[in-house]
Amino acid sequence: LGRRINAAVTDLTRSPNLDEKQFDSMLKEISNALVEADVNIKLVATLRTSIKRTVNFKDLPPSTNKKRLIQKAVYDELVKLVDPHAEPFKPRKGKPNVIMFVGLQGSGKTTSCTKLARWYQARGFKACLVCADTFRAGAFDQLKQNATKAKIPYYGSLTQTDPVIVAREGVEKFKKERFDLIIVDTSGRHQQEKELFAEMSQIQAAVSPDQTIMVLDATIGQAAEAQSRAFKDTADFGAIIITKTDGAAAGGGAISAVAATHTPIVFIGTGEHLLDLDRFDPRAFVSKLLGMGDMAGLVEHVQSLKLDQKDTLKHIVEGVFTVRDLRDQLSNVMKMGPLSKMAGMIPGLGAMMGNMDDEEGSLKLRRMIYICDSMTLKELDSDGRIFVEQPSRMTRVAYGSGTSVREVEELLTQHKMMAGVAKKMKGGMANMQRAQAAM
Ligand code: GDP
Ligand code: MG
Repeated sequence: LGRRINAAVTDLTRSPNLDEKQFDSMLKEISNALVEADVNIKLVATLRTSIKRTVNFKDLPPSTNKKRLIQKAVYDELVKLVDPHAEPFKPRKGKPNVIMFVGLQGSGKTTSCTKLARWYQARGFKACLVCADTFRAGAFDQLKQNATKAKIPYYGSLTQTDPVIVAREGVEKFKKERFDLIIVDTSGRHQQEKELFAEMSQIQAAVSPDQTIMVLDATIGQAAEAQSRAFKDTADFGAIIITKTDGAAAGGGAISAVAATHTPIVFIGTGEHLLDLDRFDPRAFVSKLLGMGDMAGLVEHVQSLKLDQKDTLKHIVEGVFTVRDLRDQLSNVMKMGPLSKMAGMIPGLGAMMGNMDDEEGSLKLRRMIYICDSMTLKELDSDGRIFVEQPSRMTRVAYGSGTSVREVEELLTQHKMMAGVAKKMKGGMANMQRAQAAM
């Protein structure tokens, strides 16, 4: 998607006589890309009107950087759509907070329940799980296994078939035991089944949750809107968790769900593992959707892995990004794997490696690292301009690394792009570091 949108914008800015007709056709191209990425069709139409209003073509002075302006308008509008400006419920320690999960079968409720319990447990909450899925054979076993792995107390029954009774009993028991966070997992069936919705309201009435969370599978695409509306009508959830964002889905469905229900996304599932849960960040989400790369996410991830980030973070805060910083990032990506997952976090790299499998991708990365390793220290610690001033340096590096001049150029383009992002992030990163220092 990002590629298509960027291509549309680039085409437009390449042509010397920018006219309104071209602007319209570009907007159409962007809209098609968004619909293909599962953003609701009506939303896209609204977005289009709103961008047209923001970027008033006739009134723009000729010197305006139109590409930047258009990109920013698309970005801002999407962020606005995905950010409902509604505060999600925040559990407080020292009192029992009951959270109930709803969602279709297979959406990832049971998995996300455990992830969320562990997330709060790691932050000092006394968390536990109640299995109110008596519909599916093996549901309690699955929850039991997950909970045991995460060392989280759980409640369920193999004999009681009424989920309302199990839910009530479990919540009562854990309230008496003074748990801070009691998460109730429910059964999901198929959307058409009326019993699911009836059962859901009965459980909701029985345990009166402080928060109901709807779990939405990122891969359901355009169905996201209808599905979230159907749940909202019956269970009135106050937060959304989007699962399987690590998959191939473009993620536009999430935008549709938020817009249709005015409900915030609180977390996203990024894999099958217990730790694959991230706080939802509208800006990072839209950047990724547009192929701009989740730089903040990458930096955070690198930080948590304690890899050799050396001066990269410091550099980004200062708005500097050297070729050596790129080399460090590339080698970190190699270490972190799986490639397909990590590459998407580096602006431009995901698009470049889009059609490669992990083996081809890692070969490509290795070649890029060889190129860096054939540079002199002066070149490595430079901002890359040195190669533009003396192109013979590129030939020498290509020769030394056993690659081609074209590949060296490609690496320098990648570097330039990341340096640009680093510059833009300068302010944001400084804030992030200040916030971390204050914690
Ligand atoms: P439920 O029926 O709603 O309780 O769904 P489950 O929690 O049983 O999950 C259904 C399947 O989706 C399982 O195979 C999970 O491992 C998988 N799953 C859940 N969340 C994620 C996620 O964020 N990423 C990936 N890749 N798989 C997930
Ligand atoms: Mg389940």
